[in-house]
Amino acid sequence: MTLICQILALKKSIMLLKKNFIKKRLENMVNKKVMIIGAEISGMSAGNYLQMNGYDTEIFELHTKPGGLCTGWRRKGYTIDGCIHWLVGSGPSINYYKFWNELIDMRELEIVDYVEYCSLEDKDGKRLRAFANVDRLEKEMKDIAPEDTDAIEILEIILRSLFN
Ligand SMILES: Cc1cc2nc3c(=O)[nH]c(=O)nc-3n(C[C@H](O)[C@H](O)[C@H](O)COP(=O)(O)OP(=O)(O)OC[C@H]3O[C@@H](n4cnc5c(N)ncnc54)[C@H](O)[C@@H]3O)c2cc1C
Repeated sequence: MTLICQILALKKSIMLLKKNFIKKRLENMVNKKVMIIGAEISGMSAGNYLQMNGYDTEIFELHTKPGGLCTGWRRKGYTIDGCIHWLVGSGPSINYYKFWNELIDMRELEIVDYVEYCSLEDKDGKRLRAFANVDRLEKEMKDIAPEDTDAIEILEIILRSLFN
């Protein structure tokens, strides 16, 4: 037998071993069921990952609807939007994106990127605008509180590390 034939035979037996190992693991999982409390992002993600790994799952929810804290409702002509407004990983350049994409087809979501995420105003009318752009946010914060430069720069490093 040539060396190439020996390598091919070895590869084949490793693949067979791997296949048998996975088959055995899946067989062991048959009839294994996990009960999950709460149909919100934690519970539903757990359900998804368990099913991806061959487990059967059942989710129990106290409320009449799923969603938990991620919710909105209408009252007296107003929409109270209590859902999240800042989803870390909404864009493909951010490392969290791939995790969301394992659970939801992110291309199906309409993402609205705000220039200004929110603004805070004190009693004297002094305003802090929370810009989504880190450079603009840093400048805004330093203009308002130059004495906090060190803390602002630490925040900037943390924010940038989330995006890289
Ligand atoms: C106003 C507001 C704004 C927010 N904004 C942001 C944001 O911009 N970005 C961000 O990332 N996060 C934000 N969050 C946080 C985010 O919404 C939560 O971290 C997230 O939704 C929590 O999900 P969870 O699955 O861990 O828990 P929960 O949402 O608390 O879900 C728990 C679920 O379990 C159910 N449950 C509880 N006990 C039982 C029981 N005994 N039996 C059966 N069911 C049960 C509940 O009914 C609920 O559906 C915000 C939260 C709020 C309130």
